[in-house]
Amino acid sequence: MSWAVLTKLPKDMVYQHFTPGVVAPLDNTRPSIWFAFQAGKLVMVDDGNGAEVPEALSLSDLNIPYDTTYYLGECQGKSVHAVQVLEQAILPPEYFLKDLRGLIIEKSESFFLLAGRARQIVQWDIDHLYCSRCGTKTVTHPQDRAKECPQCGYTQYPRLSPCVIGLITRGSKILLARSPKFPEGMFSTLAGFVEPGETLEQAFAREVNEEVGLSIQHITYISSQPWPFPHSLMIGFQAEYADGDIKVDGIEIQEADWFPIDQLPLIPPAGSISRYLIDRYVENGQR
Ligand SMILES: [Zn+2]
Repeated sequence: MSWAVLTKLPKDMVYQHFTPGVVAPLDNTRPSIWFAFQAGKLVMVDDGNGAEVPEALSLSDLNIPYDTTYYLGECQGKSVHAVQVLEQAILPPEYFLKDLRGLIIEKSESFFLLAGRARQIVQWDIDHLYCSRCGTKTVTHPQDRAKECPQCGYTQYPRLSPCVIGLITRGSKILLARSPKFPEGMFSTLAGFVEPGETLEQAFAREVNEEVGLSIQHITYISSQPWPFPHSLMIGFQAEYADGDIKVDGIEIQEADWFPIDQLPLIPPAGSISRYLIDRYVENGQR
């Protein structure tokens, strides 16, 4: 089951039929979909049915001043590209910029995944203009999604940061916690980045222990979600409480508590994997 199933059905079906690729086809008469980003925000246009990404044969037809483009693959015969728009450029008035976080509710899961893929590739390009080993300007690899150093040969691939996130259950109660960064009154599941040498389960158990002082058991994988802000891959678990009393670290976690599933506080919005993990447990009931 997908993490967005509980939230909405896809309306933009075309994005469900995406086939990834790296090298653009030689046929330049194919229509193209352009996922263009300026300072991390998506360039959109109102096509009469709401906000959409622009489509045109070539980018110059759209009058979008750009720096770099990347071919991402194809959707039902249309080429899909990621575009890095020039940072200081003034866009023509028909375009507007949208934060992807808001689009997780407004658009379908497949749209969000594709837009997130484009955003990550654009950001990766910006962050890897130079070789991290010797400082020489990198070049884009002709066949692979990679950037190569012409001086020392070091290859840099798109960066992904695995992040474990999970719901801890205790019968009819679940553990939710508040980070100081959250909106006022909101509680969520615990999460943290995986460290070198850890299994995903070890990472989740360590994060839980560090942040709230609890031991957990029966750690089970549930689902995952790419989170392109800027390059996380959220890996979602469910686990049962094993031992210990809640003791928050006071830094990453300000407050944590066991909440009965019929008396939940403000929780993250639909579309997030955290919300999916919570809804799934509440709907399935106590195991
Ligand atoms: Zn180098």
